Amino acid sequence: MNNNKVRVRFAPSPTGGLHLGGVRTVLYNYLFARHHGGDFVLRIEDTDQSRFVAGAEEYIMQCLDWCGIQPDESPLKPGAYGPYRQSERKPMYAQYAHQLVEQGNAYIAFDTTEDLESMREQYKTEHHNAQYDGRTRAFMRNSLTLTKEEVDALLTSNTPHVIRIKMPQNETVVFTDMIRGEVSFDTNLVDDKVLLKADGMPTYHLAVVVDDYLMNISHAFRGEEWLPSAPVHLLLWKYLGWEAAMPQWAHLPLILKPDGNGKLSKRDGDRLGFPVFAMDWTDPRSMEQTTGFRERGFLPEAFTNMLAMLGWNSGMEQELFTMDELVQHFSIDRVHKAGAKFDYEKAKWFNQQYIQKTDNARLAELVQPFIADKNIAIQDEKLATVMGLVKERLHLLSEFWDQASFFFVRPETIDVTAIQAKWNDTTRQFFVLLAQKLGAAADWNHVAIEEVFNGAIAESGTKKGEAMLPLRVMLVGGKFGPGVFAIAEQIGKAETVGRIDAALKQL
Ligand code: GLU
Repeated sequence: MNNNKVRVRFAPSPTGGLHLGGVRTVLYNYLFARHHGGDFVLRIEDTDQSRFVAGAEEYIMQCLDWCGIQPDESPLKPGAYGPYRQSERKPMYAQYAHQLVEQGNAYIAFDTTEDLESMREQYKTEHHNAQYDGRTRAFMRNSLTLTKEEVDALLTSNTPHVIRIKMPQNETVVFTDMIRGEVSFDTNLVDDKVLLKADGMPTYHLAVVVDDYLMNISHAFRGEEWLPSAPVHLLLWKYLGWEAAMPQWAHLPLILKPDGNGKLSKRDGDRLGFPVFAMDWTDPRSMEQTTGFRERGFLPEAFTNMLAMLGWNSGMEQELFTMDELVQHFSIDRVHKAGAKFDYEKAKWFNQQYIQKTDNARLAELVQPFIADKNIAIQDEKLATVMGLVKERLHLLSEFWDQASFFFVRPETIDVTAIQAKWNDTTRQFFVLLAQKLGAAADWNHVAIEEVFNGAIAESGTKKGEAMLPLRVMLVGGKFGPGVFAIAEQIGKAETVGRIDAALKQL
């Protein structure tokens, strides 16, 4: 570790929506930083202009915000190590690439796209794709094969060129990953990655090392898909003379498909009907829309709690943790080595638990976007009361309207068949009487309404069991919902009587 202070970073490339694996990487970084009283840095890795997607950076920041994760330093909140966008740090990188060339750890390559293609064609074997490496570099146009005069002439005439790392031959690069333990790589299998591109921009490989160094990063946690790049990064740390300051690495296991093997992809979500992105994302190029957990009706606390448990365990029975509790208990040694299968039913269970725990006023606020298209004015207070009545039935906020619309608008149709199963002259007389008595009721609350109902039962000689379900269907439209007298209280006297009368006309 390079100093005593823990400093971690989330370093996304702004190329599209934020996958839940990405959010989990953010979360583990954040929890680790907070647990150790350290800093959590957001750095935007936007050096690959060809993959840049407008709006993606803002989207990532909004996702973090929604999740309740505030970076200590970011493009919006610059600290002492700025700028926090790699594109704005462009002038910082070239000197290191040149240093590596001078040291003999990197070289200048002038090959054109056609040169590279013909090399790949010529040197591929039945089992291996050819790459620019220790075997092929000797046949290419670079500062290792050209004379100094030739190189100088090409540079003077502004011939497009890149700088590549010169991977050593027959070496083993070893490091200790905080999750996987010792990991080693055979350098003969790694290609000579480009470090500095023809446009003067660094590639990810150079930029990530330079920035982790200059930003004093103590621990670098990132997805397992970056493990194959680790030997390149380790050698860069060594060649640049910064080895003693190198962060400790942890490559986080993948989040896997619920069915079968492999990384959970957006396509799996489409196929199996669940979100994979944190929030709705519209690709500005294709206009393709992808649903997010937020818009599906997840509470941010449930989403982050669920993600925390996907690949980490607290060692305790407890499954529900507030962010503060996660900070308190989080440790990298309890992150699993193996990938975790995503389980949407379990994700919904977390959300259901959080809906039950959350107070009705906040839920009423959170549910607003899900009822905005209904175009009816609902008072906050009434919304909160109804929320309190139906929330135990909700796994997702998006289910609210199906469970509660009858509180606000009269159902267009009612399940007449369900009533008919209990229907006879006595029940009809009972409902006529009930409508009358309710119309005359002085008090309107669920206790008083139930008393009126019981009175009408006694007077008409109907059995309570015969009348409860029809009353529910008349008010709700179907055989569901919370307590029927609480429903009547909420919809009001005139509407209760109106719904009974309307049903009587249909029967
Ligand atoms: N820019 C990389 C990404 O998009 C970051 C990898 C890393 O954290 O080193 O995932």
